[in-house]
Amino acid sequence: MTSEKFEINLGKSYPDIRKLSQDDFIRFWENQAKSLKWFKPWDTTLNWNPPFAKWFEGGLLNASYNALDIHQTEKSDKIAIFWEGEDASQRSISYAELFIQVKKFANVLKSLGIKKGDRVTIYLPMVPELVISMLGCARIGAIHTVVFSGFSSTSLRDRVEDSESKIVITADGGFRKGKIIKLKDIVDEAVSEVKSIEHVIVFERVKGKITLNEKDHLWSELMKHASDQCEAEELESTHPLYILYTSGTTGKPKGVLHGTGGYLTHLHSTYKWAFDIQDSDIYFCTADIGWVTGHSYVVYGPLLHGATQIMYEGAPDYPDISRMWNIIQKYKATIFYTTPTALRMFMKFGDEKPNSFDLSTLRLLGTVGEPINPEVWKWYFNVIGKKRCPIIDTWWQTETGGMMISSLPGIESNFLKPGSATQPVPGVSISVVDEDGKEVPANTKGSLIIENPWPGMLMTLWNDDEKYKDVYWSKFENKYYPGDYAICDSDGYFWLLGRSDDVLKVAGHRIGTAELESSLVSHDYVAESAVCSIPDEIKGESIIAFVVLNDGIEITQEKIVNELRNTVRNSVGAIAIPQEFYIVSKLPKTRSGKIMRRLLKAIANKEKVGDVSTLEDGAAVTEVQSAFDEIQKSINISDR
Ligand code: ATP
Ligand code: MG
Repeated sequence: MTSEKFEINLGKSYPDIRKLSQDDFIRFWENQAKSLKWFKPWDTTLNWNPPFAKWFEGGLLNASYNALDIHQTEKSDKIAIFWEGEDASQRSISYAELFIQVKKFANVLKSLGIKKGDRVTIYLPMVPELVISMLGCARIGAIHTVVFSGFSSTSLRDRVEDSESKIVITADGGFRKGKIIKLKDIVDEAVSEVKSIEHVIVFERVKGKITLNEKDHLWSELMKHASDQCEAEELESTHPLYILYTSGTTGKPKGVLHGTGGYLTHLHSTYKWAFDIQDSDIYFCTADIGWVTGHSYVVYGPLLHGATQIMYEGAPDYPDISRMWNIIQKYKATIFYTTPTALRMFMKFGDEKPNSFDLSTLRLLGTVGEPINPEVWKWYFNVIGKKRCPIIDTWWQTETGGMMISSLPGIESNFLKPGSATQPVPGVSISVVDEDGKEVPANTKGSLIIENPWPGMLMTLWNDDEKYKDVYWSKFENKYYPGDYAICDSDGYFWLLGRSDDVLKVAGHRIGTAELESSLVSHDYVAESAVCSIPDEIKGESIIAFVVLNDGIEITQEKIVNELRNTVRNSVGAIAIPQEFYIVSKLPKTRSGKIMRRLLKAIANKEKVGDVSTLEDGAAVTEVQSAFDEIQKSINISDR
C-alpha cells in the first residue's frame, strides 16, 4: 500500500448523490431507475427473499428499446460504433443504422422460431454483428449467451449444452494476430451432436469458402429478406437478459444469470458516474464482448447513454505494440478503459512507443479485471494520461453486473491513490470482515463482503440455485461473498489484495498475492509477476515467485534474484521474501488476461492442473513447469 495521493480537480460535485444513497439504498436505486424508459412502472422496488433479489418487480421494459429507440429522434445520425478491423478496415455505424439492423435481426430470430425465454449462443469475433445479435435477442426477450470466440469447440459445446441454446450465431472466421481463425469449423465440431441446436447463423466476416450444412444459414441471406419493423417486446424487469460464464480464473466457469431492469439501472448510473460521459466523448473500451466488461461497458452502458465508441476487432499488440495508441490517435478517443494485464504488457516495451503518438484527446483512463500494481498505475497516469487524466480503477465481477468500487469523476472530485480502487459506488455498501463475518478495523486485512442487495446483482447461476447459494451466500449469513481479499484504509479507501483462496499464509502472517506481486513489479527489471505458496514443514507454507522481465534486461539471474529479495524485504518485509524465484517469459493466464495462480500452485505442489479450458496459452504452463523442474533437480522439496 502506498500513502501517495493524487489530487485531480474535476470540477464535479454532486454530494447529494452519495448522501441520498446512504439514507435509504432502496429508495435511492428507485430514483435511479427512473432514468430508464419503462413501458409500465414497477409495483415493488425490491423483493428480497435472501439470497434471491427481484428488482423493480411488476415493471415492464426492454433493453434494446433503452439502447436504441430512445435515441432515434435526437441522435439518429450520431455514430454509435466506429469499428476498426484488425486488418485496419473500418465501419462507422450510426444509431439509426444500428436500430434498423437490430430490428431486422430480431425478425430473423423470430422467423427461425425463437421466442421469449429461448437461449441463443453467440460465438462471434468483435464485429458490430455481435452487438446486433445481442440487441436482437433482447428486443424479443430471447436470452443471449455470448461465448468468447477464442474458446475451443469443447468449451463452446459445454456452454451450448448447459444453456440448451436453440441457435448458434457465428462467423466464417475471425482475425487474430493476422491469422484467420475458422470459427464455423469450430462450431461444426462443437454443435453437430447437440440436440437443442436447431439453426446456425453464419456471418460472413472473412469471406472465405463456407460449407453450409442442413441447419446453417448465411447472415446476409437472412437479413436480405427481413423486415425492419419490429416493436420491442414489453418484458418484466426480472426477465433474464443473458447468461454469461465467468472467466474461470479459480476453476470451472459459472453460468451467471442477469435480469433486465435492475441490471440496466446499475449500468446506466455507474456508466454516467464513472466515465462522466458527455455527448462529445469518443469512448474506447478494449474488452472483448465475450466477457462481462464487454457486455456492461461496451454494449449496454454506452448505448443506454447514446455514446459514441470505438470497437476494435483484433489483438492489442497487432501488428505491433502501438496498436492501441494508434487507434486512440486516429479516432481522437477521449476515454480509454483497459486491463492491468494489457498495461503491464505495454509498459514492458517502454515509454517511447506511446510517446510517439498524439494521446492529447484523452481525458479519462480506466482499468478493470485485476488489482493494478501501483507502479503500473503511475505509468498509466504519467505516460498515457500525461498527469492530466484521472484513473478509475473499477472493482467488480461478472456476478455484480456493474462497477461496485471505483472513483467517480462524474459526481465527485476525490483524490486518487495508486493501487486503490477507492470507494464503493453510491447505493452499495461494502465491508472487510474476519472469518466470523465481523467487520475488521481500518487497515486490517480480511474478506470483502457486500452488505445489501444491489440492482446489477446476478439473479442466480443458470439452472443451479444451490450452487448460487453455496458459492456466494453460505460463508457469511445473508451477505454476498465475492471471494476477494482486501483492506479498507483509514480514508475509507479499498485495496484489493487478490483472491481469498490465493492468500499466502506464512509463519502466522497473511499476505495477499497483490501485495507481493506489486512489490516485485515495482522493480525496474520486472514486467509481471505471480506468487503462490507451497507446503513447508517449518513455516507452514513458503512462497515461490514467478517473474517475467522487462524487455532488454540482460543481467545474471543471481543478481536479479538478490535485488528482488531486497525489494521485497524493504517494501513488504522479510517474512514475505519468496523462497524460490523462477524467471519465465510468460505467465499462465485466462483468455480474459488474468493470471491463473491456481495453475502455478498445482505445478509447484505436483498436483494435476485441473480445468484449463479457459487458459490462454498452454505454452506458458509448460514453461513454468520446466523452469520449476529445472530448479527442483538440485533441491528436494521435502527437505525444505
Ligand atoms: P472465476 O469466477 O470463474 O474464477 P473471474 O473471477 O476471473 O473467474 P470475472 O468475473 O471476470 O471472473 O472477474 C472478477 C474478479 O476479477 C474479481 O472477483 C476480482 O478478483 C478481479 N477484479 C476485477 N476488477 C478488479 C479490480 N479493479 N481490482 C482488483 N481485482 C479486480
Ligand atoms: Mg470470480
